[in-house]
Amino acid sequence: MNTFHLDIVTPDGEAFSGEVESLLIRTDGGDTEILAGHADYVAPVGTGRARIRMGGVSRFASASHGIITVVGGDVKLAAVTFEFAEDIDVERAKRAKEAAEEKIRVAKDDRALMLARAKLERAIARIRASELKM
Ligand code: ATP
Repeated sequence: MNTFHLDIVTPDGEAFSGEVESLLIRTDGGDTEILAGHADYVAPVGTGRARIRMGGVSRFASASHGIITVVGGDVKLAAVTFEFAEDIDVERAKRAKEAAEEKIRVAKDDRALMLARAKLERAIARIRASELKM
């Protein structure tokens, strides 16, 4: 299968760099799968599960708030957070989910509600991604 070069960066540094067969990511337009030879492209990335296929094997991850670009066949994902399933601390994500639900319950304004909902989305994406780890 044809491959392409994928770089993933977060504020913590390089999360991934290598040749892959596909990247599935949650863009604002829904789940989007990038394959080799994809046309030049740019899209905002939301919060959700991600999947990288390499050597016929899938690696699952969780991503939040980013941008994906395809330029000349090279794919770059810059995200606020990106964790591979095996690196996710599930108990921490469950605690974050509970904390976010409480913040939603007591939110006093739209901003607090928006931040709490975003935290809840990240926690749910992490829990779901961790359930998919190999
Ligand atoms: P928490 O309340 O647990 O910090 P959060 O959603 O507020 O959750 P973020 O601000 O999204 O956390 O992430 C802060 C940093 O911690 C990022 O580098 C992110 O990759 C990492 N991180 C957050 N939750 C987890 C987790 N459950 N397992 C592994 N890394 C995590």
